[in-house]
Amino acid sequence: MSGWISVLVHTPAHAALGPVLTYRCAAPLPAGTLVRVPLGKRETLGVVWQDAAQESSGEIDNDKVREIAGVLDTVAPLGEAWQQLMRFSAQYYQRSLGEVALAALPPQLRDLSPLQMQRRLLRSQRGAAKAAKATAAESHQAVSAASEAAPSPPVPALSAEQTAAVAQIAAHEGPFLLFGATGSGKTEVYLHCVQTLLAQDPSAQALVMVPEINLTPQLEARFRERFAPMLGAHAVVSLHSGMTNPQRLAAWLAAHEGSARIVLGTRMAVFASMPQLKFIVVDEEHDPSYKSGEGARYSARDLAVYRGRLQGAKVLLGSATPSLESWHQSRPALDGGRYQRLLMPGRIGASALDLPLVRRVDMNHQPRKAIFSLPLLDAIRACVARGEQSMVFLNRRGYAPVLHCADCGWKSECAHCSAFRVFHKADRTLRCHHCGFTERVPRACPGCGNVDIAPLGRGTEQIEEQLEALLADIRRPNSVSAEFPEGEPVRVARIDADTTRLKGSLQTQLAAVHAGDVDVLVGTQMIAKGHDFRRITLVAAINPDGALFSSDFRAPERLFSLLLQAAGRAGRDATLGKGSEVWIQTFVPTHPLYAALKQYDYPAFAQSQLEEREQAGMPPFSFQALVRAEARSQEAAQAFLTAASANARQDMATWDGWADVLENVTLYSAVPMAIARVANVERAQMLVESPSRGALQRFLAGWQGVLHATRAQPECKGLIRWAIDVDPLAI
Ligand code: ADP
Ligand code: ZN
Ligand code: ZN
Repeated sequence: MSGWISVLVHTPAHAALGPVLTYRCAAPLPAGTLVRVPLGKRETLGVVWQDAAQESSGEIDNDKVREIAGVLDTVAPLGEAWQQLMRFSAQYYQRSLGEVALAALPPQLRDLSPLQMQRRLLRSQRGAAKAAKATAAESHQAVSAASEAAPSPPVPALSAEQTAAVAQIAAHEGPFLLFGATGSGKTEVYLHCVQTLLAQDPSAQALVMVPEINLTPQLEARFRERFAPMLGAHAVVSLHSGMTNPQRLAAWLAAHEGSARIVLGTRMAVFASMPQLKFIVVDEEHDPSYKSGEGARYSARDLAVYRGRLQGAKVLLGSATPSLESWHQSRPALDGGRYQRLLMPGRIGASALDLPLVRRVDMNHQPRKAIFSLPLLDAIRACVARGEQSMVFLNRRGYAPVLHCADCGWKSECAHCSAFRVFHKADRTLRCHHCGFTERVPRACPGCGNVDIAPLGRGTEQIEEQLEALLADIRRPNSVSAEFPEGEPVRVARIDADTTRLKGSLQTQLAAVHAGDVDVLVGTQMIAKGHDFRRITLVAAINPDGALFSSDFRAPERLFSLLLQAAGRAGRDATLGKGSEVWIQTFVPTHPLYAALKQYDYPAFAQSQLEEREQAGMPPFSFQALVRAEARSQEAAQAFLTAASANARQDMATWDGWADVLENVTLYSAVPMAIARVANVERAQMLVESPSRGALQRFLAGWQGVLHATRAQPECKGLIRWAIDVDPLAI
């Protein structure tokens, strides 16, 4: 019937109401048009959608069809490719289309009326016009300056390895996995490919994704530095959660309209509307932060590969320690590999011999309970004496993970979670890192009144304190002054989630390290990532063994990548770098993971891990999904999962043609999650596994309805919510 349109709106994840609703509209609108529609008592943003017949539910009652409230006609309709990306993401990650699509739009777009939108656009167009004039003048100058042979910044001539990689990328379709050591010049390859593309095609757009923009400000700076003079400052935009809503909207619109040629962003950027997208870079593709931990639990890396195929854009994944999934995908095509592997083993301006020496300290031969082994301490002192910097990391913040009373056995448990509260000495609090519950440290043991309660284990605060004490007797070289007649004391600084809570504080602290105002930097994995510290020549992992014995089968993979990345922090300066060292304190010095690390041999490590995974039938040799349930009691959470599993076996087995699917899918028992209770909510999970991605997908799609129906069963009373995580990263 004419005058009716289908509109996609944000409905709760599992709403009975279909995500596509029918509205009345004076004139037909193309799919992808943004509209304002009444929904219940409120008005909300919607996207005109096409295939109502399949996606809307129930009969349409003529009298109940309401009129749309307005059209955001100053924004061009979202393209077919974007719509398809939404359909695929919703389907693959088992979420409602309305939720996925509306969450993919910038938050402010959801709130603006058409009139407000129009005003905003006028304002930003005026701004852009002004800027364009300025840039035109600038680029004119730039061009004439260039012809006078004074280009800035200088673009380095590619190395032989870089040239080979670039040639492969130009000659093939991809997707590509660029496996290159830290400092091998991967970023330069990204810059080069993007530059070639933008020069060839005056409307082409490139998407460059990074794990966490705060941790890699240098990459953003390099892209801006390279492209702003060429394309104008407005052609490079960022998209990440650290931006204000107006900033995000402006960047999103620029990408949507095509004036932004390069979008630099975190995982959310994979959903940006980029009609002329021709190239996608996923830097540090192994990084877990590409996987969303809430809502639709999508992997931006995997969606990037899908999106590349959808829009005919080349996809380049880069890492020094690729995810085992991507490594496996890039095996030779004859063995079924689908990605093309590109190798850049060498570091720019250095030979392999200059890689930091990896030293393992056998902690079995060190004084019991020693935080620092004697040889490591000596090495740090020598490093300070040379005027160089060291970096010490431990993946645990706070002073100690537990407070403990030796008399009665009391421990600092959280009242709301099945976890201990961490002792923070700086403000003398006990803090739960799961629910945030915080209290002052008690004067005496709450169990027996003993005043001698002691910290158990150690965190970064304690490392910092210990180092200050252990280095108190030495002075910085050449630092004698009126104020310090014997020389300045050693400066120890700490960077972790606790010291960087305030906006901008991370930047300030990093700047202090870069400026040389810090001699020893202590921190969590935060400091191991991405930073290009020039003067660090010693990196030490205090206690990395935990991951070797973790129940999470991905823990060794993450540890290897973290340690290799941390090693990459050392010796980045060509002259200082020669004597750089990476220290590993361990109780299992002969562990194969450390042996591979010592040789910088990621391929050997990957191969041994993949062999183990293949034998155990784990990803990437199988495909997994987790169903998580939250309830008032652990019994209710598990009962829901158990019932849903039983219903799957009973009901779905009777469906026509589903026997095959069920046969290929294994449903494991419901178990409590590793931290079973958080903020007084009990959590359980159930693993679903299949050797076939297709079978798993079909099963999950069919199972959705069963899960909904199961919820109504009496034994599931107390269930709060459930959600499916496809391709989970932590089991
Ligand atoms: P990665 O991204 O692999 O860590 P980068 O691209 O950041 O490596 O390169 C490491 C360093 O080498 C950077 O300082 C970069 O400016 C420099 N560099 C990269 N490629 C070249 C080149 N072809 N010639 C000279 N210097 C280069
Ligand atoms: Zn006690
Ligand atoms: Zn808690």
